[in-house]
Amino acid sequence: MEGALTARDRVGIQDFVLLDETTETAFLSNLKKRFSKDLIYTYIGTLLVSVNPYKELDIYNKKQMEIYMGVNFFELPPHIYALADSAYQTMLTEFNNHFILISGESGAGKTEASKKILQYYAVSCPSTTLLNTVRDKMLMSNPVLEAFGNAKTLKNDNSSRFGKYMDIQFDSQGDAVGGHILNYLLEKSRVVHQNHGERNFHIFYQLVEGGEDDLLHQMGLERDCQHYNYLTQGECAIVSSINDRNDWKTVKNALQIINIDEINTNHLFGTVASVLHLGNVQFDSDSKGHALLNNNNAELRWVSNLLGVDAHSLQEGLTYRKIEAKNEQVLSPFTTDHAIYARDALAKAIYGQTFTWLVNKINESMENKDNSRKTVIGLLDIYGFEVFYVNSFEQFCINYCNEKLQQLFIQLTLKAEQEEYEAEDIEWEPVQFFNNKIICDLVEDKYRGIITILDEECLRPGDASDLTFLERLEEKMGNHPHFVTHKLADKMTRKTLERGDFRLLHYAGEVTYCVVGFLDKNNDRLYRNIKDLIGQSKNAIVKECFSSTDPDSRRRPETVATQFKSSLLKLTEILMAKEAWYIRCLKSNESKQPGQFDEALIRHQVKYLGLMEHLRVRRAGFAYRRKYEVFLKRYKPLCPATWPHWRGVPADGVEVLVQHLGYMPNEYKMGRTKIFIRHPRTLYATEDAYER
Ligand code: ATP
Ligand code: MG
Repeated sequence: MEGALTARDRVGIQDFVLLDETTETAFLSNLKKRFSKDLIYTYIGTLLVSVNPYKELDIYNKKQMEIYMGVNFFELPPHIYALADSAYQTMLTEFNNHFILISGESGAGKTEASKKILQYYAVSCPSTTLLNTVRDKMLMSNPVLEAFGNAKTLKNDNSSRFGKYMDIQFDSQGDAVGGHILNYLLEKSRVVHQNHGERNFHIFYQLVEGGEDDLLHQMGLERDCQHYNYLTQGECAIVSSINDRNDWKTVKNALQIINIDEINTNHLFGTVASVLHLGNVQFDSDSKGHALLNNNNAELRWVSNLLGVDAHSLQEGLTYRKIEAKNEQVLSPFTTDHAIYARDALAKAIYGQTFTWLVNKINESMENKDNSRKTVIGLLDIYGFEVFYVNSFEQFCINYCNEKLQQLFIQLTLKAEQEEYEAEDIEWEPVQFFNNKIICDLVEDKYRGIITILDEECLRPGDASDLTFLERLEEKMGNHPHFVTHKLADKMTRKTLERGDFRLLHYAGEVTYCVVGFLDKNNDRLYRNIKDLIGQSKNAIVKECFSSTDPDSRRRPETVATQFKSSLLKLTEILMAKEAWYIRCLKSNESKQPGQFDEALIRHQVKYLGLMEHLRVRRAGFAYRRKYEVFLKRYKPLCPATWPHWRGVPADGVEVLVQHLGYMPNEYKMGRTKIFIRHPRTLYATEDAYER
């Protein structure tokens, strides 16, 4: 029919693999067309692209879930439920393990996506009363972890400040029977410092705003966020999109569901309160500039009270360092700056360890002790690539993590393509792509990598500093194509670099890091006397976190970067052994407004998430492939010999069908279980015929 709009014209293409041309412009225009119709999901093959709508869409309800349950992936419009269901169905039929990697920058919708998937499994899987409690625990782990691990940042009012990988375990009937969480690198520096317009972790405000009068009184807290130094640096304690009082109730209720008893709950809030009091401990200085702290200081008393440690020892620990010399212990006084540093280090350590304790408790409550064989679907919601005006150690770690995940993505996608071709007996045609292994090596190489050089400087006694670290980097990296500093740069580039910076050319773009604080943050040490002191705390959580029974505990602990590197290595191993599914989240605009499609912003994300590259890999050989049954079921009305029923095997039916449609021999190949079609236009003709 001339002039009639096809579905493709109206709502864009559901699968980018079927785009006429693989240009960025065509890609964006399709995404925009769909976004304007509130269609936020689009596929690239089995990868799901999602654009944050910044408004509630009526597509996440029980009815929608039921529509997607057990239905073939491509039969319905793209949806996160389709991907969740597809992973689940494959797991059940093949009895293997899967993971869903959710990536994208801050505010793109990763955490929301992971919650929608978890809800889908909680609602759609078969259930018994007993299992319901496990599911409740899994669902309720979210508000607790978000309270302690999320914060308002400039980019997202509920930004996850830790990485999270959660395994959902299923038994052979497909019931969700247990869960386990691994957490990565909490941004502890936020406990003591927030940039303008940002907040500390939600739990602090929830406690101060929502905590019952008795509880606040018992912990010596004022009902006023402005009273606390650790809560006011960002000057935005109150945020319109956040209701701390309601969230407090949700969190308290959730703590009960995950089996944290009253005593532990009190200890937990005691540690949170102790951090607030610590932040208010101020030091005077004597004539030599040494820090002074009065034993009767009210805030100090509250900290000692809440942590259950001796006030005098705490005062000493915050103002003196114990040095062991010739079997003798000498107290060396801190300057005021040094005392503030020691105080902040203690606050960060307490909070960080409490967070780990909480994750362990959640894991205990979701643990399935039954030994029968289970399969898992892992959900990875991890910080996206980050570039700020000033980038520090935290961004270095986060961006390194993203390099690793991109590397995994490349390996797994290519591997999956190759394996599918082999399984289907179709010749594999190698594809060219940028391999970011060179950048991973630059960061993590055992001998010459940035982390190794950083660790060496951290260990080196004497004059080691952030700047000597930079000098070592310059000596070792020399002319590495992905590394540059002010000294190494050519004239033009030099203008864009400060002397204390190094710049990495990441797969996603350039990032300039300022070396200030690298050594300190990597060391992340508490002074021995303070550590020993709080190891004897009467607060059970603090005691558990800091008292070490390990005879080697006096050995130097691994540095932060090295621990992070090993945990990423382990994560890679966990993921490599599973079948991968991907969700790429895109942020639609910077102002968190509904309906705004900021083309430049999205273009940038499309580029660095490697979406065009992925599309090219998927289209390199054969753009489109479908199981014979599925293909036949959809298109059989187009051929008299296959309509209404094809009596033989589906593959033969498909052969008859495509012959009838006039497919050229070089346009398609018949695999073992699927038909492969080289170019989308072949399929378009078929689709258009179908619509008519
Ligand atoms: P970060 O890396 O900072 O943790 P994120 O990618 O996890 O960011 P989310 O917290 O999931 O981002 O999303 C940010 C906000 O965007 C949400 O609080 C919500 O307001 C909105 N949002 C995200 N996804 C959706 C969705 N599918 N529907 C409606 N709103 C959404
Ligand atoms: Mg998040």
